[in-house]
Amino acid sequence: MNPPLRKREAMKGHWSRFARPEAREACGVFGIYGPGEDVSRLTYFGLFALQHRGQESAGIAVSDGAHISCYREMGLVSQVFDEETLHRLKGDLAIGHTRYSTTGSSVIANAQPMVMEWRGGQVALAHNGNLINARELRHELEAEGEHLEATSDSEVMVRMVVREANHLGSLEEGIVACMPRWRGAYSLTLLTENEVIAVRDPSGVRPLCLGTVNGKATVFASESCALSVIGAEFAREVQPGEIVIAGAEGVRARQAMAPAVRAFCVFEYIYMARPDSTIGGHLVHEVRKRLGMQLAEDCPADADVVMPVPDTGWPAAIGYAERSGIPFGEGLIRNRYIPRTFIQPDQRLREMGVRIKLNPLREALEGKRVVMVDDSIVRGTTKRGVIRLIRDAGAKEVHVRITAPPYCWPCYYGVDTSNRSDLIAARLTSVEEIRREIGADTLCYQTIPGFLKALRMGEDQLCLACFTGEYPIPIPPDVKLSKLDLEEPACRLGEETT
Ligand code: SF4
Repeated sequence: MNPPLRKREAMKGHWSRFARPEAREACGVFGIYGPGEDVSRLTYFGLFALQHRGQESAGIAVSDGAHISCYREMGLVSQVFDEETLHRLKGDLAIGHTRYSTTGSSVIANAQPMVMEWRGGQVALAHNGNLINARELRHELEAEGEHLEATSDSEVMVRMVVREANHLGSLEEGIVACMPRWRGAYSLTLLTENEVIAVRDPSGVRPLCLGTVNGKATVFASESCALSVIGAEFAREVQPGEIVIAGAEGVRARQAMAPAVRAFCVFEYIYMARPDSTIGGHLVHEVRKRLGMQLAEDCPADADVVMPVPDTGWPAAIGYAERSGIPFGEGLIRNRYIPRTFIQPDQRLREMGVRIKLNPLREALEGKRVVMVDDSIVRGTTKRGVIRLIRDAGAKEVHVRITAPPYCWPCYYGVDTSNRSDLIAARLTSVEEIRREIGADTLCYQTIPGFLKALRMGEDQLCLACFTGEYPIPIPPDVKLSKLDLEEPACRLGEETT
């Protein structure tokens, strides 16, 4: 075992993410059925491509046909695995996971895949999403005498599968029996000794797709970028409510639950997914570019240069510049060597933290009226720091344009945005107040109609709850209250430019 990782484990609980302190992603899942392939190495590369979805811990479980071996540890994929570890993970089929905690704390006990025994053998589970009834299900398990070791909803899921599988004598039937009881978001990969299984919740909140390598190996991944990186061809998405099983007899699919109200998370398009992933038939880069174009139409600005906040603001800024005719320019250089897990600066050092991450190009900014394009404003603290940087570098005016509508409501389906009172668009009562707080000359958000037009998707396909407060999968009252420390709606849906 790698000594520095042991040391890291001893420091568990002290990790925080710097790149985006206000909105944190969920997780990335991967799975491969590939006899004859180096499945642990392919899973490693797949997880590497999904690193943006979670940086707290990583793990791989591999089956050699008789036993499942699993290695999981706190840290980035490249820190957790080395040649020796991968060499020891031998087999023909595997699943992997990168984690950012949404339910349960950031400790090794919550790292995934989670492996358990059932009466027919072993099972490993990797989960992306969040169950909104996890607490209730946990209490039920405890009342039935289960001793839970971790605090995540994923442990609840794997224990439920094991109990049902023991009862029904089949792991597949065990999963099918659990699905109606799981409420919320789940895209799963599971591993048995002989099969890799992918499962998606009936609303399809989080992405999950499948592909093939050389027409032989079957691969499952949260995003298609993880397929391309290992040379797999995208085949299709796992459908909401569907189970897909890859094994010696090939691939078979089963509609385990009828699709429910579609609720794909729009933040996958706005911020979370990688721009080179294709989701729902749309290349994420193109969607972001269209959002920028729409913004240029609805929120014009009198300016000299359009500038992205790296990295997610890039495609939208290109779109804004193209549509507005204002030249595109780079004014902020991102330090590419900062890991996404980074000691979070305290309040006193927060501004220095922004400077460590982004450095302004004085030559590009001096005397300029700048349109600064970004994907969203969550708390507003980072935005204020970035605007100050641009001004300090000599910009004459800073006009902020946001590709998402105001973020007013917390997420319960797998994106950790803290409580409602932390959200600047909920806390303040107008766009003008937000503009003042972040220190911009003007501020304009995308409207919901403009947003849907640019997405080219119907409202009925998507979850828009963090803009509208209308949660497509009803949230239990006690869970809802846990994040609603600010009750009054106080959102202007981007009609105002100030
Ligand atoms: Fe995504 Fe927002 Fe819905 Fe959460 S509430 S799933 S972040 S759109």
